[in-house]
Amino acid sequence: MARSRKTDRDKQRSLTVSVEEAQKIILDSVSPLGSETIPVIEAYNRILYEDIVSDMMIPPVDDSAMDGYAIIADDTLGASRRKPVRLRITGEIQAGVSRVGERVSHGTAMRIMTGAPIPEGADSVVPFEAARERAGYVTIFSESVRRNNCKPAGENINKGDTVLQKGDRLRSADVGILASLNYSTVKVYKQPTVSIISTGDELVEAGEEIHDGQIRNVNAYTLYSEVRKYNALPRYLGIARDTLNDTREKLVKALESDVVLSTGGVSMGKYDLVKAIHADLGIDILFEWINVKPGRPCTFGRTGGKLVFGLPGYPVPTLTSFIQFVRPALLKLMGARKIYKPLVSAFLEEDLAKHFTTVNLLRGYFTIRDQEFYVSTTGSQKSSVLRSMSKANCLIVIPENTKELKAGDKVAIQLIDHDEI
Ligand code: AMP
Ligand code: MG
Repeated sequence: MARSRKTDRDKQRSLTVSVEEAQKIILDSVSPLGSETIPVIEAYNRILYEDIVSDMMIPPVDDSAMDGYAIIADDTLGASRRKPVRLRITGEIQAGVSRVGERVSHGTAMRIMTGAPIPEGADSVVPFEAARERAGYVTIFSESVRRNNCKPAGENINKGDTVLQKGDRLRSADVGILASLNYSTVKVYKQPTVSIISTGDELVEAGEEIHDGQIRNVNAYTLYSEVRKYNALPRYLGIARDTLNDTREKLVKALESDVVLSTGGVSMGKYDLVKAIHADLGIDILFEWINVKPGRPCTFGRTGGKLVFGLPGYPVPTLTSFIQFVRPALLKLMGARKIYKPLVSAFLEEDLAKHFTTVNLLRGYFTIRDQEFYVSTTGSQKSSVLRSMSKANCLIVIPENTKELKAGDKVAIQLIDHDEI
């Protein structure tokens, strides 16, 4: 008996990893998915599969930045209120018309609208409000310099510019750039499908009748939301009851997806069956425990290119583990170049009188004052208290072996709602 306990402990030790090791093991197991071609109008938040190199100049020719008169700047030399210059108007150019055949020569001007091409010969635009027009002539009261109110060809994008790179997440402006470069479709990475299973005999879905001793299923809802947040495709398979048959059946179904997320059933309890079923299904289990608080029971394995996560049962570590471990995997599957969340330095606003032996992820709320980050905790740090996660906008990342912290100390925080910082 004593011997088998020792063997259990040894086994546990060998399947326990640090946060960094877990992240590395996971990322090493991921190969990005392939591509698909989609309409550009649907491309927001998708990840580019190709570099976008411009084969044109935007704007293609010099055009006007204002409504006004296209002129030759030298014609206004010496112009003033007392000695204005008069130019004969020879025509008008609207946006959207070709400038072929239009020409401004000395002593003449053309009316021009914003975005219209600058006619041959002209090199400056005097806005309507700075001139007066009467009987086919325009009077100009001050000197104009060359290139005034002219947008040069290629000012926005030049031919040969790499404007977007493979692995970029497309934001609104990027989608606009694609359209301006005449892309009506674009090649992006495929979105991973992610199956979600909650495990537990005690769980009841929202909207269903509940009895003593039962609790509401929370994790399926938070995980479904996170998967959507990163633009992967969630598929909720329902609650697996704590029997080998039910849990196994749901896991087999889940393996049709690229990623499997189950919650609960990965600890040391009598009804924690997930790991045994993973082994039985031939999943190559790469770790079972992570040295982090909350979230120590967390398994990861691989089978035939599928990633299988057994996340903790309590609602908070389910989410913090998703952020640390599932999120990077999804981003790599989707071909993203930026994977890790950077840490930001913040001043702690309260004492934390505790010795942190392992890495701790505390739920925090940061504010920015005078360009500095400040952070305080959001209440109870128990794994079951989702309320303090709901109030949090960051995680305070405390390294292992940190002696007590005092208000005013600098700590590292990870912003949970801002993926760029
Ligand atoms: P387990 O590891 O399965 O024993 O789960 C640990 C704790 O998390 C237990 O108190 C469970 O009741 C709770 N829990 C497990 N799954 C969920 C879930 N989907 N929603 C809310 N709480 C859960
Ligand atoms: Mg359970």
